[in-house]
Amino acid sequence: MIVLSLFPGIAYILLGWFNDLYISALFWYVAVMLVSARGYYLYKNFELQKMSEAQLVSWYKKTSRLLYFFFLLWLVIFLIYVPESESGMHYIAIFTEIGASTVAAALLFPDKKLYKPILLCLMVPLAIYFFLIGTWYGYVLTAFALTLAWVLFYVANGSNTLFTRTIFQSTHDFLTGIFNRQYFVEYLQKKMSELKQTGEYSYLLLIDLDHFKTVNDSLGHDVGDQLLKEVVKRMQNNLAAGTMVSRLGGDEFIITGNNFSSKKECKEKALHISEQLLSILKAAYIIDQHHLYISASIGVSLIKENGNSSLDFIKEADIAMYEVKDKGRDGVFFFDEEMSERVERNILLERFLHLAIEEKQIKLAYQPQVNKFKKVTGVEVLARWETEEFGHVSPEEFIPIAEQTGLIIELGNYIIESAFIALDDWHKNGLKIRYMSINLSARQMMHHNFINDVTRLVKKYYTRNIDTKVVFEITESIVAEGSNVIDVINKIKRLGIQFSIDDFGTGYSSLSYIRRLPIDEIKIDRHFISELSKYNNAEEMVNTILHIAKIFNLAVVAEGVETEEQKNFLIEHGCKVFQGYLYSKPVSKDEFEQFYLSNS
Ligand code: C2E
Ligand code: CA
Ligand code: CA
Repeated sequence: MIVLSLFPGIAYILLGWFNDLYISALFWYVAVMLVSARGYYLYKNFELQKMSEAQLVSWYKKTSRLLYFFFLLWLVIFLIYVPESESGMHYIAIFTEIGASTVAAALLFPDKKLYKPILLCLMVPLAIYFFLIGTWYGYVLTAFALTLAWVLFYVANGSNTLFTRTIFQSTHDFLTGIFNRQYFVEYLQKKMSELKQTGEYSYLLLIDLDHFKTVNDSLGHDVGDQLLKEVVKRMQNNLAAGTMVSRLGGDEFIITGNNFSSKKECKEKALHISEQLLSILKAAYIIDQHHLYISASIGVSLIKENGNSSLDFIKEADIAMYEVKDKGRDGVFFFDEEMSERVERNILLERFLHLAIEEKQIKLAYQPQVNKFKKVTGVEVLARWETEEFGHVSPEEFIPIAEQTGLIIELGNYIIESAFIALDDWHKNGLKIRYMSINLSARQMMHHNFINDVTRLVKKYYTRNIDTKVVFEITESIVAEGSNVIDVINKIKRLGIQFSIDDFGTGYSSLSYIRRLPIDEIKIDRHFISELSKYNNAEEMVNTILHIAKIFNLAVVAEGVETEEQKNFLIEHGCKVFQGYLYSKPVSKDEFEQFYLSNS
């Protein structure tokens, strides 16, 4: 504004000097400069990141008022000097008016409320002035002024449309039309400044649809897209005023709502909204004649200004959301510190696990399986990891990490190979073991290279006439892997390997599914065994599993046998193979050989 005011101002003063209008020109020029200085002050005080929504609104109001005032001032100057044709000041007045209009069109196009009235106020008096001259060139100039006014309006309107569209596209999600991640992060940053001033709380809900990928993969992206739109529609229809929903990407949405002075109230509200969302999203969707059902996992983070960035809070909600996924989906969790410690530990473990696999730090332990005379009939191979940093890390902790990160492929192959090597050694040492069980994880078994890898290992280590049967233990969760499972099992069985269902009775699979699986054995989960002497129905449970095995003609191993009492009950009900601390904990290879020899 200062620069734009400089040239006409100097021209007025110079011309005014020769025409006794010096004082009045200087007066008006100072007025313009004062307004410009106020503009500079407002400009200096603008901080997009730190200003809250309310502050921004108030800032914009002040700036708009100043702009009206600035351009009106030029109009006043025009009206004062345009009659001064003797001195020639009217030329400057006319040019300044045209200049001001052009500047207004070029600068103010983003806001129609600014450029429309200002252009009118500047151009109409100019046209009237030309018209009042009353000569033919006056009319020509009137026509010229009106044409220019029209051009300026046209250009400003065009720029305005383009500008609004670009802004819309950069802040909104293309598919669903709601705000996008980028906008949300900025919005949240502003919200945090608000919370800082008021000391209030608010919440973030991170919503991720469960198994959305399956819809996309099985019904196509068109159906997936329509489902997303429908989900957004339902969310919008059910959210209170002041609540904003944005799409973070894919099937992830984020919501933030009103501010609360009490943490408790904020938490209750967040929980209430989450539960409401879970239930409305669950109702059936009808898309292209498909009846679809989808649930969601919601992670909640309570936000309060505490020096954290908005991204930190999104991350917290994300951690809580993954916790829901981990615990079986379709639910709500609030973020807490313990969660973040667990996540941090997992990240560290993951890093060390890479190294551990590379440097073969994962060792194998062997747990004997015995008959009722304590004679060894089989052995289960269990992975062990001793670390310098964390001490002993349970396979129940590191196997899931290996699964999530894909490390299980390499680790799984390494475990199978090491087990085969041990088997080979025992064979050479004259140990006769009927079965060797190796645990498989679903992701490992369904990997496209699994069959090739196992075939290669079998050819390498298993060709000599070893009598031991290798048994792969899988869990019921393999059901989730789809129809391909049976195919893979059959191919592996052709290599002479058997299959066992581990932790039988704890999963979600149906009996009819189990029946179709070409398996040879089931293992009674150790939790059922440990409950044997505690609850009456535990006995019924174990008995039923033994019956099922009999009906389907499957071998049974009872796992986690710790007491004589448990063993006796199992023997009484027809179980033939036992594994547990009553006999031996999982031990090293040498210790296993010792155990074998002393019990043969
Ligand atoms: P699982 O396959 O059910 O293994 C049996 C677990 O029960 C082992 O724990 C074993 O040490 C424990 N156990 C055996 N007898 C008794 C007993 O009498 N009482 C009690 N309380 N526990 C007993 P571990 O070695 O910590 O393994 C835990 C789980 O980790 C395994 O459960 C298996 O799911 C997984 N896992 C272990 N090694 C591997 C592996 O090489 N590959 C894969 N994919 N998973 C493995
Ligand atoms: Ca097992
Ligand atoms: Ca088990």
